[in-house]
Amino acid sequence: MTTHAAPPFSSRRFCLSDLRRLARGRIPGQVVIQYTDRCNASCVQCGMRTGNRFTRSTLRPEFLAPQIEAMAARGVAAISFTGGEPLLCLDDIAALARRARAAGIRYVRTGTNGFFFRDHERPDFAARVAHLADTLLGSGFNAFWISLDSADADLHEANRGLPGVVRGIAKALPIFHAHGLFPAANLGINRHTGGHGAPPPHAPGDPGQSGDPGSSLPFDAAAFQASFRTAFRRFYTFVESLGFTTVNACYPMSAEETPPDGDDVPEDAAITAHEAVYAATSADDFIRFSRQEKAALFAALFEVIPEFRGRLRIFTPRSSLLSLLRRYGGGPQNGHYPCRGGIDFFFMDAARGHIFPCGYRGGEDMGHFSDLNPSAITTKPFCDRCDWECFRDPSEMFGPVMDAFSRPLSLAKRLCTDAMYRRTWIEDMRYALACDGCSAVVAPNPARLARFARPRPSV
Ligand code: SF4
Ligand code: SF4
Repeated sequence: MTTHAAPPFSSRRFCLSDLRRLARGRIPGQVVIQYTDRCNASCVQCGMRTGNRFTRSTLRPEFLAPQIEAMAARGVAAISFTGGEPLLCLDDIAALARRARAAGIRYVRTGTNGFFFRDHERPDFAARVAHLADTLLGSGFNAFWISLDSADADLHEANRGLPGVVRGIAKALPIFHAHGLFPAANLGINRHTGGHGAPPPHAPGDPGQSGDPGSSLPFDAAAFQASFRTAFRRFYTFVESLGFTTVNACYPMSAEETPPDGDDVPEDAAITAHEAVYAATSADDFIRFSRQEKAALFAALFEVIPEFRGRLRIFTPRSSLLSLLRRYGGGPQNGHYPCRGGIDFFFMDAARGHIFPCGYRGGEDMGHFSDLNPSAITTKPFCDRCDWECFRDPSEMFGPVMDAFSRPLSLAKRLCTDAMYRRTWIEDMRYALACDGCSAVVAPNPARLARFARPRPSV
């Protein structure tokens, strides 16, 4: 499961160089840096869980500092320190974040599985959280996520192997807010998203359900979609009750050992656990969904988000979901924007510090970033092999902006002929402005958010 959120780039910090990049058919660059693959959690959905035996690696600051300088010099606007568990290396990443900001990288992000919040009964808890807030803010981080898997604390804690963290998070949030830091809850969508109260998720092979391609029963898409509407409502209500102001959803990153079904699907369409350089994938049922299930799941999220946009800052752009639900559900495919992985977005692995197009195309080692010239990459975006929201969502959001420069007539035609897409994308852009790009260092503005309170739409 992905453990990091990718906010849209904040409108406040959009600058002339971004416009120049967009006019050249490029979008502001980002690099996801896997600083370490060490972890102290036991998540079933992830190959890096504690107890999984492989040789663990951590990058070194003396290696990474010049790489980050090269990123800044070559147009990278955003970097994320991910893991494993990044806060196991807090001092290192804090020092590197300071270097990155000093070099001109505008968005520096990290997050945690929440282990830090386990011992909330200890008398020094508040002081430790305050110190963490000061460290993150003082280093220039402007996005900070805390993973949350379920609307029920016990399911989340059992999956993570981190008892007590949810109460600790609830205690920590007011301390963060008082310091001017607004962490995001980061959901990796899974079958326990809605907790105990949501209708039970199906397991592939369960004869009572049929999303599994092996089942002979017809798939009840409406029932599955309804169960996930309930799940997302419960999850958003839960994070709000804990005190979060901001929330992100990571789309399912199930590893599949065979390509998905469908005549239109290329032979190499499956992301396999074997191929991924970023071991945040799994074939576990917890996050494994069929294509039909994904269509229903994305449609449910598309429907539920407007019910909460007036109260929470939600990263997830609905135009990206619209594209996904049409792709998996067989709707109109026009205007879909392929992923910018390997063109504007990159992944650095902890084992060697090498660059890859993303965490999943592990066969395409691009070497060190300092030897890379992203401006010279002429490959056209083509990849749709997974739904990694860190790369998927900004690719979709910036697509029409690039088209405005390079293919204005084609964009105008699409906006005229696809009213649902037009409304959805324009509202996403307005909402991103109202949310200040979901920046963790800007307090939410309830009055601006309230303008986005919407009745439930139909898909
Ligand atoms: S999902 Fe994150 S917290 Fe869980 S085992 Fe993987 S790296 Fe660790
Ligand atoms: S869609 Fe993007 S993140 Fe997924 S495999 Fe392709 S390049 Fe990588």
